[in-house]
Amino acid sequence: MGKLKQLTDHIYYLPFEKETDRPNLYYIQGEDFSLAVDAGNSGKQTEKFYEALGEAGFPLPSLTVVSHWHWDHTFGLHAVKGLTLSSELTKEKLKKVQQWQWTVDAMKERERTGEDIPFCTECILKEYPDLNEIKVALPKITFSGKMKLDLGGLEVILEQRPSTHSLDSVFVYVPSEKVLIVEDADCEDFYHSNIYRKELLTDMTEYFKSLDYVYHCLGHADAESKEFALQRLSEVTCVE
Ligand SMILES: [Zn+2]
Ligand SMILES: [Zn+2]
Repeated sequence: MGKLKQLTDHIYYLPFEKETDRPNLYYIQGEDFSLAVDAGNSGKQTEKFYEALGEAGFPLPSLTVVSHWHWDHTFGLHAVKGLTLSSELTKEKLKKVQQWQWTVDAMKERERTGEDIPFCTECILKEYPDLNEIKVALPKITFSGKMKLDLGGLEVILEQRPSTHSLDSVFVYVPSEKVLIVEDADCEDFYHSNIYRKELLTDMTEYFKSLDYVYHCLGHADAESKEFALQRLSEVTCVE
């Protein structure tokens, strides 16, 4: 099956890569069409994903939804085939990112103002030896709140909710596979002092508890069980 890994009957993923902070890219296969979760951190990662799908004999996703605005999940958008989808908030934020200049000086200045963080600069410089290759594209379709998709024999529920990681987070729930794709949402907010806000954590944890699922699928690590994730989150330090 090449580089693609299978999670459940209908869900596959291209595994994360630590080196340049590439996230897991998920592929949810319906009878009528398929949905991808996240675009990748560059056109190169998107193409790697498509190559792996090709090797597995799968059609390219008709629709790609991005989980939040961070570069490592969205900078591949320009290379995505088919339609692209995000929350309204993600698109608004990406419009601002489109204005950013990509020189080391401009990146350092954004670190100084807190618009961006050193970890991103470091990984972006590794992923893009030529910074001119960075292209920030906007998703074609946006939504807010909740959205249901019928992929053909497979229901997917997308829900935009503020998370401890980012206010524009989209969660992808596939009830019949008992899968919740969380990507980075249950991490701390790296843009705001690396902390967990108690209110957001409580709200998000209640959301997890309310769903019937087994696989808690992350952005930059292997999937966990729901129980394991809830236990981990119950032990983090947070502030009011
Ligand atoms: Zn993130
Ligand atoms: Zn990420």
